[in-house]
Amino acid sequence: MAKKQFKAESKRLLEMMINSIYTQKEIFLRELISNASDAMDKIYYKALSDDSLVFNKEDYFIKVTADKDSRTLTITDTGIGMTKEELENNLGVIAKSGSLAFKQENEAKDGHNIIGQFGVGFYSAFMVADEVTATSKALGSDEAFRWHSKGADGYTIEAAEKDTVGTEIVLKIKENTEDEQYDEFLEEYRLKAIIKKYSDFIRYPIKMDVTTQRPKGEGEEEELEEVTEEQTVNSMVPIWRRNKNELTKEDYDAFYMDKRYGFDKPLKHLHISADGAVVYNAILFLPESAPFDYYTKEYEKGLELYSNGVLIMNKCGDLLPDYFSFVKGMVDSEDLSLNISRELLQHDRQLKLIAKNIKNKIKSMLQGMLKDEREEYEKLYKAFGRQLKYGVYSDYGMNKGDLQDLLLFYSSKEKKLISLDEYVAAMPEDQKYIYYAAGDSVERLEKLPQTEVVADKGYDILFFTDDIDEFAIKMIMNYKEKEFKSVSSGDLGIESGDDQSSETVETDNKELFEAMVELLAGKVKSVKASKRLKSHPVCLSAEGDLSIEMEKILSAMPD
Ligand code: ADP
Ligand code: MG
Repeated sequence: MAKKQFKAESKRLLEMMINSIYTQKEIFLRELISNASDAMDKIYYKALSDDSLVFNKEDYFIKVTADKDSRTLTITDTGIGMTKEELENNLGVIAKSGSLAFKQENEAKDGHNIIGQFGVGFYSAFMVADEVTATSKALGSDEAFRWHSKGADGYTIEAAEKDTVGTEIVLKIKENTEDEQYDEFLEEYRLKAIIKKYSDFIRYPIKMDVTTQRPKGEGEEEELEEVTEEQTVNSMVPIWRRNKNELTKEDYDAFYMDKRYGFDKPLKHLHISADGAVVYNAILFLPESAPFDYYTKEYEKGLELYSNGVLIMNKCGDLLPDYFSFVKGMVDSEDLSLNISRELLQHDRQLKLIAKNIKNKIKSMLQGMLKDEREEYEKLYKAFGRQLKYGVYSDYGMNKGDLQDLLLFYSSKEKKLISLDEYVAAMPEDQKYIYYAAGDSVERLEKLPQTEVVADKGYDILFFTDDIDEFAIKMIMNYKEKEFKSVSSGDLGIESGDDQSSETVETDNKELFEAMVELLAGKVKSVKASKRLKSHPVCLSAEGDLSIEMEKILSAMPD
């Protein structure tokens, strides 16, 4: 039998493919399973317009079988199969997608579930196999054919025996080398995990023979026997495609745990089915507590990204702004333009639209919580408030409007966290500014001499105990037309009832003040009489815009 040669370009392409397009070897299984799923979809779409064809869902499944002795991994489907010509055209010509052609021909019939489009996925099998055999019988044909290839040097096609319609792909798994492990692709548990990871939501059952140990009959306690049973490995219907009304909080919690989004329980979830300018499904979670590495460089933000139920990316960072980096979950969309490896997105217009949409949904969810579920919101704020304040500070031009309403600070008067909105709403009419005091802790701030005058007027003071607080506030500048004012700043904007003018105090004690400056040389710039002390004899005050607290933080930073 004459061996047909791949065209020269095809040879190079195949080599390139195998070595560079895919970053992980394990995705070969995702590609072969996606092809099998496509092949069954094609019968389904055909049946829609062909009355002589009946589509019985039970007849359609994928089977994955590993045999360690022969080092073979077999993927069988009951899909539409391939004729001799199709084997030649679809598997013999690299970068030719029969599925893309099918989609184009059947556009009107809504073939959007079909995954294939690039015509290279099949060859990813050569990342783990040094021989690939595809035996196929096409729907409506009584002959079967076998395509066989050892990689770049070509392929053969010959007549074969196959009883049922569909395709069987057999991979001869490579031997382990010093640098590369291949044995794992013959291990049941590993194959199951790969299927779960990438193909859990393929709409057809993916079956495997799973061997388990089971006690041998009753009475005999110690005796175990091995039983092999056929199991369906994938869950098929993704939770995000199910009706929200049929799902309970427990279902979402279980999904969160299953996906290992976190080791805590989610505080709240949001299930989105967007049907507007961009179509996508998403489930987002707010974790209850910050992961241990959350405030470190190691933490990687992002949502899982699926295209049509097939996992594309574990952590798509572009889907979340930094200030919502604590949000976990997934997005599934049919509208994404993927590149050849499916691991990169080609045109990010759709992705940007989804990201914007998601950002707004998260914002509304947080605003709603602040209003109606205060306790839950404060829990979240304790874990992630710093990130929100950081968001206000780092790109305030874009986010401050989004985020400032979500901030909470400790109120010296209410002795609890309040929002800026609540602060302003409670302001007495004659109060001009939003007052704050910055320091290490609420306890220390409560003893700060400068707070007395403000508090005595009946004005509330926000206590800033996070390094980032004052920086964030400087970015907001004013809230509802009220400026922020540090209780340590020069002019507090409070009318003093004092009749003894500080000027006379100043002139009367000129020598004393000069002596004090001399004594504290290098530590203070000047000593002045103050109008804002009551029970305390002395206080420190900053000149200019920077408060003492900010100066402390800035001078502690490396240059
Ligand atoms: P893509 O799936 O992007 O089209 P592949 O390289 O994965 O590219 O597959 C190439 C083509 O081979 C598919 O478009 C399809 O026509 C055909 N094919 C591959 N696997 C199967 C299968 N299991 N059953 C039927 N046709 C298949
Ligand atoms: Mg494919």
